[in-house]
Amino acid sequence: MPKDEPVVLYEVRGHVATITMNRPEVANAQDTALIDGIDACLDQADADDEVRVVVLAGNGKHFSSGHDLKALVGDTEPDEWRRMRDTPEGKFRHEQVMYVERCQRIYHFRKPTIAAVQGACVAAGLMLACMCDLIVASDDATFQNPVLRMTGAGVELLVEPWELGIRKAKEFLWTGETLDAQEAWRLGLVNRVVPREELTQRVDELADRVALVPPTTAQVVKDSLNNTATLMGKEASWKYHFMAHQWMHNTETATSALKARQAKSSMSEVFAEHRD
Ligand code: ZN
Repeated sequence: MPKDEPVVLYEVRGHVATITMNRPEVANAQDTALIDGIDACLDQADADDEVRVVVLAGNGKHFSSGHDLKALVGDTEPDEWRRMRDTPEGKFRHEQVMYVERCQRIYHFRKPTIAAVQGACVAAGLMLACMCDLIVASDDATFQNPVLRMTGAGVELLVEPWELGIRKAKEFLWTGETLDAQEAWRLGLVNRVVPREELTQRVDELADRVALVPPTTAQVVKDSLNNTATLMGKEASWKYHFMAHQWMHNTETATSALKARQAKSSMSEVFAEHRD
């Protein structure tokens, strides 16, 4: 891929805007540029009255492998956010602004959103997909959040109990098991499973159909459905979990494990095993 290729692509077709993560060489690992890129595309989709539905997709074999830890703990040039992570206060601020607030913006986006998920959808990749109103998975999609054994208290927003039910969420998180697309559908994590080669077309068809709803109606009903989840305690539980997640980041358990990983010579090894 040419170096000047944007890390996020934006395209409008009829009433549907598609935001495509474009770091296929790292399985769309989310670094600062990618997170900022999605946010900028949301600004465009919000401002454009022609856009009624937003699709979030990932270029290449995988939807997203999670946060780009190579950019956080690796040997790449630190950006301003990574430099902040040297203190618990900075880490808290980084994750609050770039992970929690950016994700919640997608969750509360006034227009309906659809995630188109193929390949691996891991840790913060799963968190990102779950911010969308609907999820369409291709038959090769897999879902996993294996960060607990690497000391992480899940990722920043605990989506699992809302997506899988509490008992399954415990199993999913403690075992780090991988759910295939059919199992994800059975559990209600995804709306539809479609053949990989038809993913784009089937998501477009679904988006076109949702776009038939007048925008204000779609917005009001989305808000009411999200409010139902709010009344069930969704945001309050997320708020609690984020603080628990932060506390865990700063424990001896987590910091000594992080130091051990940083000492490893191969950063690709770290990248492969630690996605939050
Ligand atoms: Zn974190």
